[in-house]
Amino acid sequence: MEVEPKRMKSDLCAQIDDQVIELHVFKRVQDTSLQEHLEICPKCQARTDEYRSFVSVLRRALYMLYEREGRAEQYIISRSNDS
Ligand SMILES: [Zn+2]
Repeated sequence: MEVEPKRMKSDLCAQIDDQVIELHVFKRVQDTSLQEHLEICPKCQARTDEYRSFVSVLRRALYMLYEREGRAEQYIISRSNDS
């Protein structure tokens, strides 16, 4: 059966919620079709970038907190999951 690309694309966009974006940022998306979509869709890429900058702000805040509590090492460990 033929799949109309445009329709498939928008359907996938609708399936991609913040949780999927989060998984994508950490390269943990299991679903191949979702992953492929995330790599090609400008709209979802924009959402991913937005999430990435959110994460980096969060990390900075977390690091400051850890540092204040003398737990900066823990921060470095939690960071190693990311590339
Ligand atoms: Zn999309």
